[in-house]
Amino acid sequence: MTVAVIVAAGRGERLGSGRPKALVEVCGRPMLDYSVAALRAVPSVARIVVALPAEELAAAPKGVIAVAGGAQRSHSVRAALAACGGGDPVIVHDAARPLVTAQLFAQALAELERHEVDAVIAATPVPDTIKEVSADGRTVARTLDRSRLWAVQTPQVFRRGALERALTGTEEALARATDDAWLVERTGGVVRILGADPGNLKITTPQDLRVAEFLLAERGA
Ligand code: C5P
Repeated sequence: MTVAVIVAAGRGERLGSGRPKALVEVCGRPMLDYSVAALRAVPSVARIVVALPAEELAAAPKGVIAVAGGAQRSHSVRAALAACGGGDPVIVHDAARPLVTAQLFAQALAELERHEVDAVIAATPVPDTIKEVSADGRTVARTLDRSRLWAVQTPQVFRRGALERALTGTEEALARATDDAWLVERTGGVVRILGADPGNLKITTPQDLRVAEFLLAERGA
């Protein structure tokens, strides 16, 4: 039985909308609704748990379990996972990616079933040349081999034991983690990439919101 966690407890300050990002409207619907709708279209998903800011629990769509998120993204994942009851594998998805599709969730689950790995993560090859800078923040230290770089998205799907182990990391690790797969990697887990559409973009700035509205309108959402 598959369970799904959507993290939606971020404040979204870079969006500057004055309310939690996941509840900002995109083409007339709260951003969070798109991810919930996509998950509902995946037959194997038995339960959806959403982590929201504590004062916004009433804003959760009907039929999902709502829990208060934590100070950092990983704390929100941990709180939502604890409210899932049983269920394995676990899908983790950011509400900030409303362009996700049911097909991408299903592909990630199928890939986890096909391979003996701890996690499968959606990602796209990096189109830009990436340079690492030294401690001064300006001098180029080295240029990375672009052919081996992937920009990571959500969904990320996990074998439950691996995710639970990963989330028992130190507070410092939980605070540093910008995705859950890194927490699995650092506890020795094997993480596999699933090629995904770059259109599954993450909404951070007002410009991202405009692009998402354009893409959703094109999709007929
Ligand atoms: O801030 P950022 O866009 O990187 O957050 C990624 C996702 O994690 C968003 O969907 C956000 O709502 C969620 N989040 C959370 N709890 C936090 C911080 C972020 O659920 N404390």
